[in-house]
Amino acid sequence: MEKTLVLIKPDAFAAHHVGDIIKIYEEKGFRIAAMKMLKMDRRLASIHYAEHIGRPYYEDLSGFMTSGPIVAMVLMGDDVIHRVRELHGKTNPADAAEGTIRKLYATSGRRNAVHASDSPESAEREIHIFFNETEIYDE
Ligand code: ADP
Ligand code: MG
Repeated sequence: MEKTLVLIKPDAFAAHHVGDIIKIYEEKGFRIAAMKMLKMDRRLASIHYAEHIGRPYYEDLSGFMTSGPIVAMVLMGDDVIHRVRELHGKTNPADAAEGTIRKLYATSGRRNAVHASDSPESAEREIHIFFNETEIYDE
C-alpha cells in the first residue's frame, strides 16, 4: 500500500490541533504506519526542505519549523500521497478549499499547519528522514 510523510507543524501543535488533525486522517480511512513527536533542528530542516534552500523565504521556513515540537507521521492507503495533499489543501489557506485541513487550521501560507509529501519519490525520501524501517508498521 502507498505511504506518505505528514508533519503536523509547530503552529498547529502550539494551537492544540494535533488531535483534531489526526482524527481527520483516521476518519478519512488512512492508516497510521508510524508516528512520533520531535523538535526539528536547523540541520534536520535543511535536509527535509533541501529544495527550498536559497529561496527568499528559507530562513523564515527554517526558523518556523524549528520553533517548537512537531508530530511526524507515516500514513498509508490507496493513492494516499495525492489524497492527503488534497485533504491538506493549497499552501496558502486563502486559496485552500472548504473543509481542508489548511482551511481549518492554517493561519497563513507560511504558518500552514501541515506538510505532506508531493510524489512517490519525495515520500520515500522524506519517510526515511524521520523513521527507520523498524519504526514503520505497514503489514
Ligand atoms: P507545500 O507545503 O504546500 O508543499 P511548498 O513546497 O511550496 O508548499 O513550500 C513548503 C513550505 O514552505 C510551505 O508549506 C510554507 O510553510 C513555506 N513557504 C512556501 N512558500 C513560502 C513563501 N513564499 N513565504 C514563506 N514561506 C513559504
Ligand atoms: Mg512542498
